[in-house]
Amino acid sequence: MPDPTSLRIIHYPDSRLRARSAPVDRFNAELRDLAARMLMLMRESKGVGLAAPQIGVLLRLFVMNPTGQPSDDRVLVNPVIDEMEGSAVATEGCLSIPGVSVQIRRPVACRIVAQNLAGEPMELRGRDLVARIWQHETDHLNGVLILDRMGPSDRVATRKVLRALEDPVR
Ligand code: ZN
Repeated sequence: MPDPTSLRIIHYPDSRLRARSAPVDRFNAELRDLAARMLMLMRESKGVGLAAPQIGVLLRLFVMNPTGQPSDDRVLVNPVIDEMEGSAVATEGCLSIPGVSVQIRRPVACRIVAQNLAGEPMELRGRDLVARIWQHETDHLNGVLILDRMGPSDRVATRKVLRALEDPVR
């Protein structure tokens, strides 16, 4: 793994954002350093979540903080989402797609089964913003972006911004 301090948030259309990330199998100091770096970058960017592939590391973990309070920092490793309930539309942005914010329909509540940085299992239930962050970040681990989930009107509305990101010199 590269030196975590050299890692930065990567942006669409970087192909690493489209990869399926591999399970974490080593719960060591490197993993803890990586998570610490991700939490720092998330905080710097005022985000509520950041997945490892967003800094070019293709491993199944993400960090999140729905409130911005340091005590609400969470790291979820090898997450699996199930038991989804309900459905609601809300606005989502993504630190890897600057300037884009779109309406996304998702289940309102779900369960997440994951591991912590020590490899210990955890099982949580969440709803609303927390459940949405879990789903958005787990999508990243499968190479799925909000661009894949937005509706036709957002597809039209974001076309120019996406084109500029795809071809920044034009
Ligand atoms: Zn994102």
